[in-house]
Amino acid sequence: TDPLLRVDNLTTAFGNRDAGITAVRNVSFEVGRGRVLGIVGESGSGKSVTARSILRLLRKPGHVREGSVKLAGRELLTLPEEEMRKIRGKDIAMVFQDPQSALNPVMRVGDQIVEALEVHGVKGPAARERARELLRQVGIPDVERNIDNYPHEFSGGMRQRVVISIALANHPSLLLADEPTTALDVTIQAQILRLLVKLRDELGVSIVMITHDMGVVAELCDDLVVMYGGRVVETGLVSDVLTAPRHPYTAALLRSVPRLDADDAHELPAIPGQPPIPAFLPSGCAFHPRCAHAIEACREKVPPLAQLQPGHRSACHVAQAGKTDLAPPPSAAL
Ligand code: SF4
Ligand code: MG
Repeated sequence: TDPLLRVDNLTTAFGNRDAGITAVRNVSFEVGRGRVLGIVGESGSGKSVTARSILRLLRKPGHVREGSVKLAGRELLTLPEEEMRKIRGKDIAMVFQDPQSALNPVMRVGDQIVEALEVHGVKGPAARERARELLRQVGIPDVERNIDNYPHEFSGGMRQRVVISIALANHPSLLLADEPTTALDVTIQAQILRLLVKLRDELGVSIVMITHDMGVVAELCDDLVVMYGGRVVETGLVSDVLTAPRHPYTAALLRSVPRLDADDAHELPAIPGQPPIPAFLPSGCAFHPRCAHAIEACREKVPPLAQLQPGHRSACHVAQAGKTDLAPPPSAAL
């Protein structure tokens, strides 16, 4: 059957062809119905630009140069803006990193949910009743009392629950979440992730989860897209990618996940070196200056994204030549 969302060959640039910066290059992936897809990468990898391209919310001078974004078979990139506005907040809902900025500080939360409902045609007492139901669904306690709170009367975690309730207001088929737990402390992060799992199970909503955190991926996601330098470098089932990564960048990301169960919970080192700036992308494989497995070809030729096992793809010359142990050497993690 058709996937809910199909992104094909998406290429997004800022500025014109000669002076412009290409932030996202030939990105393709699918989100199945009721599935949670993680898009993981460091800052500047193109993951947020990918999300904004899908929603057509790019900041100027950003524009999609090429590609296709289909929701349930319907092309979004060529829709008139008025049609697109109907899709945003209804078929596709968004949750961003900072719940503070997503809420109106001088409006009661219940009224904000009602407003979101009214935009898409639900009005009057039905809207107020639906607002109560939504707040209960996202785990806000004592809804009768809290529905008339202002955002500042809630904690950060509760505010993000309110943001999620607004996102769910119009029964979206897809929830696009960009680092929704990054601003929260670890315990609260775990609660919000559990809430998202629950909502996926109960409502069947598909989720695209943008994160730099492999721990979040392991907890929440079914499918995974790893981005580096604006490109997809590995994709597959989370269970396959996490147990046997087929790209040195993914392997290094997994190495840098802090172990919550470790006795001394010191943070493990991140990957040595800096992620590339889109305007100065290294030649060939963009990861080569940081890669412990690089060979000569890596500097010269961009590796294609090739299938190594059913449903598991990697863009790495060395993996494609058959190497399977792609972890960084222990010395890289000093
Ligand atoms: Fe490393 Fe080369 Fe593979 Fe890029 S293509 S990840 S540089 S081994
Ligand atoms: Mg971002």
